[in-house]
Amino acid sequence: MGTRGREIVGEHIDRVLELLNKAFADEWLAYYQYWIGAKIVEGPMKDAVIAELLQHAADELRHADLVSGRIIQLGGVPLTSPKKWFDWTNCGYDEPENPFVEKILEQNISGEQCAISTYNSIIEEIGMKDPVTYNIAVQILEDEVEHEEDLQSLLEDLGVIINK
Ligand code: FE
Ligand code: FE
Ligand code: MG
Repeated sequence: MGTRGREIVGEHIDRVLELLNKAFADEWLAYYQYWIGAKIVEGPMKDAVIAELLQHAADELRHADLVSGRIIQLGGVPLTSPKKWFDWTNCGYDEPENPFVEKILEQNISGEQCAISTYNSIIEEIGMKDPVTYNIAVQILEDEVEHEEDLQSLLEDLGVIINK
């Protein structure tokens, strides 16, 4: 780990690591929620929805990778047990008990809205105390904003089909 790179974060390191590990737990749970949702989803426009869910799953896994990379750079340890994801998560896990496409989309939209709020508050809190983590959080926030929009558009298109 780079000593000067850690020094500039200074006294804020513990809090930054806490925020990062909480986000790390969220990303894994979001990844799995999308991944399993893509396997079980049923209903109209299924193929388009599966493609979007799988793309988002891949993005969430990439986010977990970015976040864990920063944790390690700062001398921390990413959560090493999936059991800890539930203790650390901000956004939780919304089990897709109902495989109907509309329900799956709604659950994932709520998840994205939570992710947007979470990264926005990380960005506000960290600010220039840690520009590197700030930049990672901004990159991820951009993706989460796009995810919400993608899912809401799908839900809108689906509404046209269901209600006609
Ligand atoms: Fe994410
Ligand atoms: Fe997302
Ligand atoms: Mg997308």
